Amino acid sequence: MKTAQITLYNTLTRRLEAFVPLVDGEVRIYCCGPTVYNYPHIGNMRTYVFEDLLVRTLRYAGYKVTHVMNITDVGHLVSDADEGEDKMLVAARREGKNSYEIADFYTKVFFDHATKLNIRRPDIVCKATEHVAQMIALVQRLEERGYAYASGGNIYFDVSKLPDYGKLARLDLDQLRAGARIEVDEHKRNPLDFALWFTKSKFEAQEMKWHSPWGEGYPGWHLECSAMAQTYLGDTLDIHCGGIDHVAVHHTNEIAQSEGATGRPFVRYWLHAGFLVLGKDKMAKSSGEFLTLDRVTERGIDPLSFRLFCMTGSYRNELSWSWEALEGAANTLRRLKSQVAQWRLDATNTNHPCTPLSLRAGELKSAFEDEIYNDLNFANALAVLHQTAQDTALSPAEKLNLFSLYDEVFGLGVESWQAVQEDIPETIQILAQEREAARKAKNWAEADRLRTEIAALGYTVEDRADGPRIISRPADLGKH
Ligand code: AMP
Ligand code: ZN
Repeated sequence: MKTAQITLYNTLTRRLEAFVPLVDGEVRIYCCGPTVYNYPHIGNMRTYVFEDLLVRTLRYAGYKVTHVMNITDVGHLVSDADEGEDKMLVAARREGKNSYEIADFYTKVFFDHATKLNIRRPDIVCKATEHVAQMIALVQRLEERGYAYASGGNIYFDVSKLPDYGKLARLDLDQLRAGARIEVDEHKRNPLDFALWFTKSKFEAQEMKWHSPWGEGYPGWHLECSAMAQTYLGDTLDIHCGGIDHVAVHHTNEIAQSEGATGRPFVRYWLHAGFLVLGKDKMAKSSGEFLTLDRVTERGIDPLSFRLFCMTGSYRNELSWSWEALEGAANTLRRLKSQVAQWRLDATNTNHPCTPLSLRAGELKSAFEDEIYNDLNFANALAVLHQTAQDTALSPAEKLNLFSLYDEVFGLGVESWQAVQEDIPETIQILAQEREAARKAKNWAEADRLRTEIAALGYTVEDRADGPRIISRPADLGKH
């Protein structure tokens, strides 16, 4: 299949570039996953929505995509610069559980929130704790190549050995060295060096430890992404993503480790999502005060309104959070749903045949594609969606066709926006819509649970070719 041309903003070059993968037609992409010690906040979810939109755009453009995401379940200290305790341990103490129980619980919460946002599960999800052997091998390779040194019981990366250290963030190394506090870790040769492996940490109670050639200990946080990216995607990736906060430390150190170990470029295109901001403050999980998707659903707002809200600005810019802005997105979503429901009724009544796209529909489709291929300009792509809704020259069936097509990328669940069935109570209709959304997200357990709940209330959902249909069951059948 021929692939479409996409332009992406590369943080490495600070330029918009034509995207050309290493292997024709294939994309290897790595996204930094969550640190699973607390609920993900909606700022984190903004970054995952962006990554989902990117992967969907690449697939829509015809690429075969391999999408890898890690789960950080060890080694991320409270500060990004090797200071403080392991975040997992802090959470374990807070909740009276062990670190593995914490990781398990918050990993499930993360995927539950991702499913509610129609974020597709990456092809490979890999946990740090299950890749310690690969991390140790990487440190050994760095030792062999002269990039690592042992000091005070820990193994550090020597940034002075890599001539272009800091290239992603364009760090001014002299200034940083002058300003750095050497007393933070007296074992480092250079204040910018970072830990690859800890056997002596500044706290005693580290729960997760592994045997290593340097003694019992645990990996530095940056190591997992270099090791797992290489394991699943090879030495050079096409795309690596994360939030903008990762540029200066985490991604800078991932590059150092990977390029130090292989001598090859680690990543061809670095893409970063801007922060979701609450007024002037960034939303930080570690500060304790943050908003989660649960607060959104508790207010009766469809979580997909948040997905729509994320598309209203460029992924690269900060996005200002407010409840008013979210309510605005929720209203838009409601209006779109009722329009689509009406077109479904109209299209069924007129029994419109499935015809090829008209000239006008073709123009709108190309306009939509131009926008998403232009560094994911979803705000403009949404404008095309609204134009489509309002276009008087298009038939309801054509509008439905276009909306379904756009939704391969938007992921707003258009297929589940069904005509309201007048004779069915609203509560049943909402349950049926939630079930359809769960089915679309391949969350079969939730879809089955909702089907049972609907059945208990005396109704059945039939999955027909044109979408689900709710049927009221005779009273005697509804009882058992
Ligand atoms: P963490 O779980 O803290 O490792 O973060 C998961 C992802 O969320 C990373 O890619 C971060 O860069 C990103 N992130 C953290 N805070 C925000 C925010 N306020 N807005 C957008 N992305 C964020
Ligand atoms: Zn990472």
